[in-house]
Amino acid sequence: MKTNWKNQQQKNQKKQNNSNKQVRLEQEQGKRKKELDQSNVSQSSKSKKKTGCPYAKKCGGCQYQGLTYEEQLMKKQKWVNSLMKKHCTVHPIFGMENPYFYRNKVHAVLDRDRKNQVISGVYQEGTHRVVPIDRCLIEDQKADAIIATIKELIKSFKMKVYDEDTEYGFMRHILIKRGFATGEVMVVLVTASPVFPSKNNFVKALREKHPEITTVIQNINGRGTSMVLGDKEHVLYGKGYIEDVLCGCTFRISSKSFYQINPVQTEHLYEKAMELAGLSGKEKVIDAYCGIGTIGLIASKKAKEVIGVELNKDAVKDAIFNCKRNEIKNARFYCEDASKFMVNMAEKGQKADVVFMDPPRSGSTEVFIDSLAMMAPKKVVYISCYPETLERDVCYFKKKGYKVKGCYPFDLFPWTGHVECVVLLTKTRK
Ligand code: SAH
Repeated sequence: MKTNWKNQQQKNQKKQNNSNKQVRLEQEQGKRKKELDQSNVSQSSKSKKKTGCPYAKKCGGCQYQGLTYEEQLMKKQKWVNSLMKKHCTVHPIFGMENPYFYRNKVHAVLDRDRKNQVISGVYQEGTHRVVPIDRCLIEDQKADAIIATIKELIKSFKMKVYDEDTEYGFMRHILIKRGFATGEVMVVLVTASPVFPSKNNFVKALREKHPEITTVIQNINGRGTSMVLGDKEHVLYGKGYIEDVLCGCTFRISSKSFYQINPVQTEHLYEKAMELAGLSGKEKVIDAYCGIGTIGLIASKKAKEVIGVELNKDAVKDAIFNCKRNEIKNARFYCEDASKFMVNMAEKGQKADVVFMDPPRSGSTEVFIDSLAMMAPKKVVYISCYPETLERDVCYFKKKGYKVKGCYPFDLFPWTGHVECVVLLTKTRK
């Protein structure tokens, strides 16, 4: 699965040379087509065929149903261009060779239908009504098969499914995470109460059907909330986490930690981020909003020192574990709000050479950027999952003496309206 960025670029070059063979797009999309021909989209995924997802209308998860893959990429490119082109060059979006079954994390909510049969699926958008889904075109297929087995087991073990209206019942959600590189599989069974009748037999029966499952966790969520996971957990089988490999580092992922849901594209994204940082081994690097430490630990191999900061305590625990797991000696991780952390560092007169930042959809804060500017890094590599807040933050960076050098969109979420970008900012004045 590991692909080298340079190989990919060479492949892209070949595809560019063959671009005359590629599918002709509509006239009004001519300009976009040029950009797309330069991207890495294969002939197969450029096919005019649209997905035949039977749940498209009700599920709401894939906003770009009904569009071909190239139309989706063009829409995303257009969106990023409209926001970022006034600041810098926007490069062609990096699409997937095979834009299906890419999600390594699958969540299913449980319910019963009118015939009292156990169903699993997603909440209909804006409601708490469950849309039953048995097979999803973007989710890992193994995960969907495990969910189907769990539904059968609920029936044979005569278990009650939780009813949100009456707040009665036991089994609420199933969460599955899979390490695509390692094959490890985590199953989280979210229950309304702690007492799990026949839990050992349940796990045994599940593992008999799916020996690929490496850990099973019971998470207890008795609250009437839309949050899937509660605070308390019991490991029912295995080590309580899974591992995956990205860019040559091994990462522990626990049930509550954030981990990118499309690891194939994430490797390309991170490789680009490293290339833009251009580390030489002498730099002091900050990895802000670091999650389980992925970016910082990959960077640590080419930096003098890495400091990571993250708000989620489980993710920080994973980051510290991952540091040891990869025998990395030059990285430290802190659990704190990233803005507060930066203020603190700047007040102490600390400096940094390169800052990676990967905030959630809401973006970063002016306080964060003010303090970052005081620490005067020569380069900032900003990874964003929401172009609108990226653009807002980039405007503020410009006021603080940073130049926007280039924007690289990546399609991490085919069939949905989401797009990931990595942007390089460099310091212009002292
Ligand atoms: N860089 C990581 C995680 C990116 S997702 C990766 O690539 O995997 C964004 C992360 O920001 C999440 O882990 C989330 O918990 C964290 N986060 C959200 N708000 C934060 C804040 N105010 N301060 C620090 N971290 C925050």
